Amino acid sequence: MKVLVLNCGSSSIKYQFIDTEQKIALAKGMVERIGMSSAVLSHSRYDGDAIKIVGEILDHQIAIEYVLGVMLSKNHGVIEEKEDIEAVGHRVVHGGESFSDSVLINDHVIEVLQENIELAPLHNPPNIKGIQAIKRILPNTPQCCVFDTAFHVKMPPKAFLYGIPYELYKKHKIRRYGFHGTSHLYVSQKAVEILNKNIEELKLVTAHLGNGCSMAAIDRGHSIDTSMGFTPLEGLLMGTRSGDLDPSLILYIMSKEALSLNEAGTLLNKHSGLTGISGEGSDMREIIQAVKQGHKRATYAFEIFCYRIKKYLGAYAAALGGLDAFIFTGGIGENSIEVREEVCRDMEFLGIELDRERNNNGSLIISTDKSKVKVLRIPTNEELVIAMDTSEIVKSLKEKQPEHAG
Ligand code: ADP
Repeated sequence: MKVLVLNCGSSSIKYQFIDTEQKIALAKGMVERIGMSSAVLSHSRYDGDAIKIVGEILDHQIAIEYVLGVMLSKNHGVIEEKEDIEAVGHRVVHGGESFSDSVLINDHVIEVLQENIELAPLHNPPNIKGIQAIKRILPNTPQCCVFDTAFHVKMPPKAFLYGIPYELYKKHKIRRYGFHGTSHLYVSQKAVEILNKNIEELKLVTAHLGNGCSMAAIDRGHSIDTSMGFTPLEGLLMGTRSGDLDPSLILYIMSKEALSLNEAGTLLNKHSGLTGISGEGSDMREIIQAVKQGHKRATYAFEIFCYRIKKYLGAYAAALGGLDAFIFTGGIGENSIEVREEVCRDMEFLGIELDRERNNNGSLIISTDKSKVKVLRIPTNEELVIAMDTSEIVKSLKEKQPEHAG
């Protein structure tokens, strides 16, 4: 099946057009600066052909029309008519407690997404805009939602409840939701393939380290705990996000610096993490460069980043009651030799023994042969999961409602 995967943000849309039989992207691209006068569409095709278009793209619907325009174009396109797009899969950040699986979109699903806007005020509204734009442009094409939260929804209460009055969970749905679920699920399934084991025998810890970072404890295929919480701010140190901190500290900073609620949110989400500590920006490549030049604050940032991953790894090994494999993924996890080495340093007591040569040469398994816990480096592919889930849902729908001949 040929599926258009959309990731709609507030001012950008990332897309991939995926052939689920061959498991390849026939085209991919991004529209940036939606709503501004000089929006940019960058599009590339599987054969390397690439194009950039600058135009006035005022909203998500116009952006999607541009994307379809380039996909249909003679010189850069990959389809002959709109109907060649058999289904559309949307990455949706927050499914709240309502969705533990990907779903076919109907009016009820859109209503629930609207109800969940409070939980993800920055993310769910553009997701809904993308869904509604497709409804107008491709009214007969089935659409599905794949949620970042779904993989974690069935965590046990001891992992998802916070130590605040229980009524607040009931009243405001305040609980740990966790994010990056599609990525944690994908790399855990890949690990099963690579290790040639049965998922039923594996206790895994996965670390998705990108601009946002999170870890998950996965017991026989089920997420039992994860480091991001009610929002994607909790847990590990990230590019610009603080991760874990003492909640009282927020009240203290707000009073000392006379910050509003919005300003405090911006401080913790945009000016903290690697950026805030190092003063050198959020890009791990630049942090590592600065560490090599002896930059003190960059060194703190690098050490805190790795130390926190180590702490969660230890905690999750205990929560799982054992550990078979530890998996790195995301831009940093897949590419940073230094981060993987620092995280795995002195972890032999836990059964983790990194093979330096394998870690340097891009292997998938980067632990030694005798390491009790296997360490893996697996490139994530969230778009493929979205396309595969969408294709399965749509196929089963077609089986239930066979087309009438004549
Ligand atoms: P996003 O969370 O936006 O999808 P990515 O998963 O692409 O982000 O990860 C972005 C991060 O990956 C950045 O911090 C970047 O510095 C880091 N990164 C990419 N390549 C390397 C590399 N070779 N070494 C270290 N970090 C890298």
